[in-house]
Amino acid sequence: MTTVRNAAPSSPGGRLVGDHLRIPVAGEPRRYVDLDTAATTPASEAVLRAVQDFLPWYSSVHRGAGAKSQHSTARYEQAQETTTRFVGADPATHVALFPRNTTEALNLLAFRLGLTRDDVVVTTAVEHHSNLLPWRRAARLRVVDVDRRGTFDVAAVEAALDQRPAPRALAVTGASNVTGWVPDLRSIAAAAHERGVLVVVDGAQLVPHRPVDMAALGIDVLAFSGHKMHAPFGAGALVVPRRLLAHGEPFLVGGGTVRAVSFDDVVWADPPDRDDAGSPNVVGAVALAAAADDLRDRGWVDRLRHEEALVRALDGELAAVPGLRRLGAVSGDRLPVAAFVLDGVPHGLVAARLAQEHGMGVRNGCFCAHPYLTRLLGLGPVEVRRFHEDARAGRHDRLPGAVRVSCNAT
Ligand code: PLP
Repeated sequence: MTTVRNAAPSSPGGRLVGDHLRIPVAGEPRRYVDLDTAATTPASEAVLRAVQDFLPWYSSVHRGAGAKSQHSTARYEQAQETTTRFVGADPATHVALFPRNTTEALNLLAFRLGLTRDDVVVTTAVEHHSNLLPWRRAARLRVVDVDRRGTFDVAAVEAALDQRPAPRALAVTGASNVTGWVPDLRSIAAAAHERGVLVVVDGAQLVPHRPVDMAALGIDVLAFSGHKMHAPFGAGALVVPRRLLAHGEPFLVGGGTVRAVSFDDVVWADPPDRDDAGSPNVVGAVALAAAADDLRDRGWVDRLRHEEALVRALDGELAAVPGLRRLGAVSGDRLPVAAFVLDGVPHGLVAARLAQEHGMGVRNGCFCAHPYLTRLLGLGPVEVRRFHEDARAGRHDRLPGAVRVSCNAT
């Protein structure tokens, strides 16, 4: 087991915590090359400072008259407002909840929409499982499939929206965690709204890479994760119109969600408290809001330019590797994320060799997007059935997959 040591725990003048992590590679200390930022991002120094400043005030919110509790409550509510505004929503109409991550946010929403098995939700073959399985459990899926490049066009979404019965919601990713493809959200949302369909966007990959304006893009509900935008694990965000949470039982029930309780009656609290069961993750909320402020303060112009350069660099470097096949679209609007297979070399071996011989952290497997991956790999129904049989039998070494490299501007 290799030991990892941080030679410079906090990078002086650096922006990210652990920017200068050094690891032993073939016996020599080398700078760690993080090519797995689509999975999670290192915390920023701005987030570290915000958490350090807040920790002395650590206290329960909405529950105490003492100064610490009052301060914590104010910081929590401020984090809700900052997060709402950060993605272009109006705090007068929208609230930000802080579930653990995008996955929990989408589970919460799928429950709260009060869907039944008679309801249809339109989604796409590009989705991460977190924007697929909550809907699959709550309703019937109608899937917009992808073409050979791993993309779909607005006409395909319109065709799905026009089928009967009419769908209740459209759940679509803001950007793929496999190919980095960024769908044309504005046109997709317009098509859904013309038909009176709610637009839910999985912003886990999009929000750290692009300025997102929910109002301008026509996004009704947006979910994203703090740990993919330089905050720590443990707090994501669901930015949602108050009206969608104003009725019905919350996803989690318990302390904080109610105005009055007896054994035979419950009076639920108003949003957002109704869906904020238990002691909330105040530190996580403060950290996520600090990450949002930091992204906003540093602006997007240079960052977007840097990302374009990263996309070009990825394209160039990968094109030069003999026997490497890129998966999916390599044109159009993209994040610096790419998946590939190497002729005759198992994906697990490629990832292990990159780590051991080059100090690179990449990811391999199916990236929690099995339907998308099987399409990109060109697997037919027989191979997909075998995939499921191998998975069921626990034959992990036989599972299909690819290697993913991802990075972001700092
Ligand atoms: N959606 C997309 C597009 C993702 O890339 C991820 C994580 O990789 C998720 C959802 C789930 O995010 P989390 O694990 O933070 O819930």
